[in-house]
Amino acid sequence: MENTRMPVSRKNPTVLQSQELHEYILKTSVYPREPNPLKELRIATANHPMAFMGTAPDAGQLMTLLLKLVNPKKAIEIGVFTGYSLLLTALTIPDDGKITAIDINRKTYEIGLPVIKKAGVEHKIDFVESQALPILNKLLEDPEKEGSFDFAFVDADKNNYWNYHQRLMKLIKVGGILMYDNTLWGGTVAWPEEDVPEAKRKWRLCAIEFNKLVSADTNVEISQVPLGDGITICRRIC
Ligand code: SAM
Ligand code: CA
Repeated sequence: MENTRMPVSRKNPTVLQSQELHEYILKTSVYPREPNPLKELRIATANHPMAFMGTAPDAGQLMTLLLKLVNPKKAIEIGVFTGYSLLLTALTIPDDGKITAIDINRKTYEIGLPVIKKAGVEHKIDFVESQALPILNKLLEDPEKEGSFDFAFVDADKNNYWNYHQRLMKLIKVGGILMYDNTLWGGTVAWPEEDVPEAKRKWRLCAIEFNKLVSADTNVEISQVPLGDGITICRRIC
């Protein structure tokens, strides 16, 4: 039988199975309200060969709403790329807020940096070029950092999501929010393995393992949202 499933791809960057519906949502509710700096950054990224890695604008809109509800002063982001999610965070948090933004690649951050500077929010960003895990470990060496962050967005290095979660659960305060991107991995988490293209199998297993662990974590309330490539939103409750 022909496999009619539609995995997330460069053409279809969403787990929504109807491309028309996705386009309808973007055209009706997302693009008309997308702040100009984010639009500019999205366009500046569009010709990058890895442009598909940028946070989906519809997922970004939900993230903005959540940020406004939480009103964080201190945020942490793992996986910056050209900075779409970072810029939306910087635009949303108060003027004296700070984001610790970690990525192994400063060059891609620098693609978005002129837009970030033009938007007048660079002072809220502390960019760290590094693997994320040692930075989280370093932050945890300082007892004052425990429970000092209000918000975390994780969008890198999927095989470390649980390692990040364990550390972020100490860094984020009770009541704070942790968001994990790509937790539905193109919808493949629900497919039989034999239907999954070889290249997607390893990361699909990482997503499945993380979803199982985070679902069993009684220290958080969660919601897994089928927006973009799937987002898991956690609220630390103890
Ligand atoms: N949130 C970004 C946005 O809105 O455009 C997209 C992030 S992209 C999906 C993933 C990023 O994670 C890449 O820029 C990559 O360099 C970075 N990365 C990969 N492994 C990493 C690691 N171990 N630690 C920190 N960053 C990493
Ligand atoms: Ca992502």
